[in-house]
Amino acid sequence: MDYISTRGAAPTLDFRSATLAGLANDGGLYVPARWPHMSLDEIRALAGLDYVETAVRVMTPFVAGALCEDELRELCRAAYGRFSHDAVTPLVQLDHRHWLLELFHGPTLAFKDVALQLLGQLFEKFLSGGGTDLTIVGATSGDTGSAAIEAVAGREHIRIFMLHPEGRVSDVQRRQMTTVLAPNVHNIAIDGSFDDAQAMVKRLFGDAEARNALTLSAVNSINWARLMAQVVYYFYAAVRLGGPDRPVAFSVPTGNFGDVFAGYVAAQMGLPVARLVVATNVNDILHRALASGDYSAGSVTATATPSMDIQVSSNFERLLFDLAGRDGGAITAMMREFDTNRAMTIPADMRAGAAGLFTSARIDGDTMAMTLRWAKENGGQVIDPHSAVGLAAARELEIEDDVPIVTLATAHPAKFPDAVERATGVRPPLPARLGNLFDREERYERLTGDYDAVKAHILAEVARG
Ligand SMILES: *Cc1c(COP(=O)(O)O)cnc(C)c1O
Repeated sequence: MDYISTRGAAPTLDFRSATLAGLANDGGLYVPARWPHMSLDEIRALAGLDYVETAVRVMTPFVAGALCEDELRELCRAAYGRFSHDAVTPLVQLDHRHWLLELFHGPTLAFKDVALQLLGQLFEKFLSGGGTDLTIVGATSGDTGSAAIEAVAGREHIRIFMLHPEGRVSDVQRRQMTTVLAPNVHNIAIDGSFDDAQAMVKRLFGDAEARNALTLSAVNSINWARLMAQVVYYFYAAVRLGGPDRPVAFSVPTGNFGDVFAGYVAAQMGLPVARLVVATNVNDILHRALASGDYSAGSVTATATPSMDIQVSSNFERLLFDLAGRDGGAITAMMREFDTNRAMTIPADMRAGAAGLFTSARIDGDTMAMTLRWAKENGGQVIDPHSAVGLAAARELEIEDDVPIVTLATAHPAKFPDAVERATGVRPPLPARLGNLFDREERYERLTGDYDAVKAHILAEVARG
């Protein structure tokens, strides 16, 4: 499979190079040159397959030319063998039509493990020939950092430096990062906010001296391989609920538009999807864009669903690219306008194109808390606040009675115990497999908010080997 940039001016790459590159060098995002297609019979044949086999069938066309089916199967076995549930992403029924797809059974209790565990395997496989050592540098406000660290800890040819804002991630989130003591893992707490940390990472990627000394890579959801891994569970869930002979709707708690874009990809591949609900919190740029064409960024409001506190969703560009007829020049012009004005209007024809599949909803904190209670009282499930935003949007969806609605449960409730306790009176305990998190040794560097000090630290650590 060839990969092309949404801005049309970067070289076409194969799957291996697109995975290692992350962002395209024209500022765009890599997407497959065409969407592979699965026939209804091929989708029917997924019935009864386990998660790994489903993953192999769904992802094989995307990796063609870079990995053979057996290599892909081996990587999937290693990645999904680390999940604590045999089904990897089990479905749980809430009432006669609402289901939860639990995506949080990986090592760090958030759905990001599904993609990052595979990405860690892919990196190691692609670097195993020797030659390059990859330095991953990232900033995190919580979930991505621990999932990325778990995915690459102890792997050869990869080091990871993860910056977090000192005192502004939860104790569980910090300890999930800082108690990983593998020598290739470097945690840095900086004085400042998440945005300060993120700005330093961006500066490092643009710093010629750092770029010459290091082969830098990113693990945020601009990386195509992450989205590819997320396409799998849409097929897996739909087939269990009667697909492809019965269309299924999905509601997705959305931040960077990666998870819900994977649902769009599943639909492009031929999976009958009745509806994709983009569920946002009060940081609602995507809801405004889809409902009225108003794609304008304000400032971020902190909520009980921090992983969705985002103003600009990088992966939205991938959808715009398709809606604009895959015209890289048009997307370059649109994104330039947006970068300049922090605002643009989505043209009516593009909005109409999205409306065939997408619906959106903005869920405020009260509705989120009410839905947490509803899930506990009516469905017998204690869920996390992000999943509750998705479920609230699912319950508002108007759709035929016979369509099952699946809400993606993106985090384990124990990751956000305070908000869950406030809404339900129940404090969810950490799962036993993380039980001694609070007894383990922590290791991290504390640095000031000074860019040069952070850069010097990274270069010195890399030079030490
Ligand atoms: C990252 C994250 C999201 C948002 O997913 P996107 O792919 O960025 O839209 C939602 N919920 C949780 C718990 C997350 O960690």
